[in-house]
Parts: sequence; structure tokens; C-alpha cells
Amino acid sequence: MDLNQYRMNWNYPTSMRVGVGRISELAEACRQLGMRAPLLCTDPGLAALPMIDAALRQCRDAGLKAGLFSAIKGNPTGANVMDGVAAFKAGGHDGVIAFGGGSALDAGKAIALMVGQDRPLWDFEDVGDNASRVNVAGMAPVVAVPTTAGTGSEVGRASVITDDAAHIKRIIFHARMLPALVILDPELTVGLPAKITAATGMDALSHSLEAFCSPLFHPMAEGIALEGMRLVQQYLPRAVAQGTDVEARLQMLVASSMGATAFQRGLGAMHALAHPLGALYDAHHGLLNAVLMPYVLVANRAVIAPQMEKMARYLALPGGGFDAVLEWVLALRGEVGIAHSLGDIGIDDARIEQVGRMAEVDPSAGTNPIAFSAEQYSVLFEKALRGTL
Ligand SMILES: [Zn+2]
Repeated sequence: MDLNQYRMNWNYPTSMRVGVGRISELAEACRQLGMRAPLLCTDPGLAALPMIDAALRQCRDAGLKAGLFSAIKGNPTGANVMDGVAAFKAGGHDGVIAFGGGSALDAGKAIALMVGQDRPLWDFEDVGDNASRVNVAGMAPVVAVPTTAGTGSEVGRASVITDDAAHIKRIIFHARMLPALVILDPELTVGLPAKITAATGMDALSHSLEAFCSPLFHPMAEGIALEGMRLVQQYLPRAVAQGTDVEARLQMLVASSMGATAFQRGLGAMHALAHPLGALYDAHHGLLNAVLMPYVLVANRAVIAPQMEKMARYLALPGGGFDAVLEWVLALRGEVGIAHSLGDIGIDDARIEQVGRMAEVDPSAGTNPIAFSAEQYSVLFEKALRGTL
């Protein structure tokens, strides 16, 4: 296996350095964006690992005044973001290295946005034309370095931040939140446990799958979604079974970036439910989408037949059509060890109506192929809870 064939520089959808060992270019990447004093934003778990030490050392050896901010929760909060802004200002920083899983990437991107704003964070929630309030000139540049393959936040233009007071996840959006430079280095993901590899990989699949089923006109996103799903089909089982399979890890990082690129076309009911469930139960985002996936496919069945036909053909699934896709999703979920019901992962039935109401107004609901009511979301949630397909 010649891994050098995968060593590439891409400028779509942003500047991406892809390949084994390319984290060694981090300091140079910071310089390319004009940083002299980057603030590396990550979560406390990663901060304790040698890779963060090595990244900071590399930056300092290159003459950069690099700092570390790691007070970021699994589901990052508005307070986490504003603590990061305070650290950025106190340390005299001029850029952000967003380094980690989706939470660290989202928090880092939001910190880079907020260092230049006078308004409070929630003023930039993705509602109406709130994005026009952003002082673009004040934003700090971002180098994004994902250490999980799932969220694709490194190529996303938004951050999902939990509003602790309201117990909901809010989407902070601005087109310029897309990191200017991304490093995809599979060696940073080889230490991920199989469970996290599976849950995050299924999140990548859910992004491509929901984008592929969205009714919006965006054929480019549709094409990316198809190949993103094929990469998951081919490489996720390998990455889960053998964590040190660097080629599978690399392909999953690419599939993850492709999923997030595709969902410029929108997401759907998996995410409309996963967002409130994540906020109410602090459950893992990718795991929620993975469990919800077949139930949402069945709920959308009446209108997604043409897309399922195309998808089954492209993935060469036996039998073809909707049934082939559903069979494949169920088999893949089983193969990578995802539970069948939300009840199996500790979600209870105490808030069925509340979850339905929250899902109906979630921004992802707008591009589900069927506009479900709150009651329909509650029914869907209950089926996923009990494991009735
Ligand atoms: Zn997701």
C-alpha cells in the first residue's frame, strides 16, 4: 500500500492538506494565514495526549507564541466559547488552531468569530439574516485539525453550541466561519476507540444520507454525498475493526469532510431529533444519528424512493431500491456495534412530547423530505426509543 498516492493539496471546499504525517505542517499553515500567536483550542481529554504537546512544541519551535485553551465540554456551551474568547484576548492571540473532535472544532470556530464581535453570542444564531450582523474584519483566522472522522466541522460554516440556560443547541452561522485551512492527517485518529470510530463514522454517513434526501436543488452536493456514502461503506468497517488501518482512517476523514460539504444542501429528521436529544440527555451526537437512521428512512419512505434507487445502484446493494438501502444500513450498524434502539443507549420516555416539539422547529427539520409535525416527530422518536421499525 503506497499511502503517498493520497498525499494531496485540495482547494475545495477550502484549502486542505491531506495525507499521512501532514500535521508536521501545522506551524507553516499558521504562518500562511498570518498568525504569529495562535491559540490552540481543544478538549481536556485531548489536551492530555502527546499529540497536543507535540503540536504546541512544533509551533513554538517555529517561533510562534502558541497558547492552549482546553476548557471545552463534549457538547460545547456558550460559556465555553466566551471563556475561550477571554483566553484569546488575555494571551494576545491572533488566530485559532481548532484541534479535535466536533466539539473542539465547533468551539474553536465560534471563538474565532466572537473575538471580533461586540454583540452577545446568541445574536449570531442562524435565524433570518443574523449573519449580516457579523463584523467580518474582526474575525480571527482558523486552521482546523480534526481528530475524529464524523462531524466534518472542519469544512462547515457553522458551530453547534449549547445554550445552557435554555437547554437547547443553537447553530451559530456565518459563511466566513469555514476554516481557511484544514489538515487531514489520519495518524491523529488511529488511537480512537472502536466505539467512537463507529459513532462518528455513522455521523458522517448521516450527513451524506440526509443531504442526499434533501429536496433542495443542489446537484453538486448530491454527487458529493453519493461518493461520501460509498467511502463509508468501504472503509468504516475496516477503521472500526482495525484502528491502525491508516488508509481506512484517511478515507474516513475524507468521507467526513465530504458529508459536511454535502450538507450545504440541508439535513433532515435524524439531526432534527439528534439535536434536542443531545441537549436534553447529553448523549453522543453521532451515536444518536446512527441509532435514528433506519427509523427516519422508514418514516421518509413514501417520498425518497427515487433517491434510494440511485443510492442502491451506486453502492451496488443487492436487490436495489429502498429495501436494499435499509438492509445495508441495519447490517452496517450491526457490524460496527451500534445499538438498535434509543432505549438501549439510556434515553427514557419522559419527554416524548417535548422532543417532538423541539424537533419540529429544529433548523434541520426544514430540509427533511417530509415536513413532519411535532406529533409525527414524537411518534418517530417513540419508535426509535422502543426499537420498533
Ligand atoms: Zn451530525
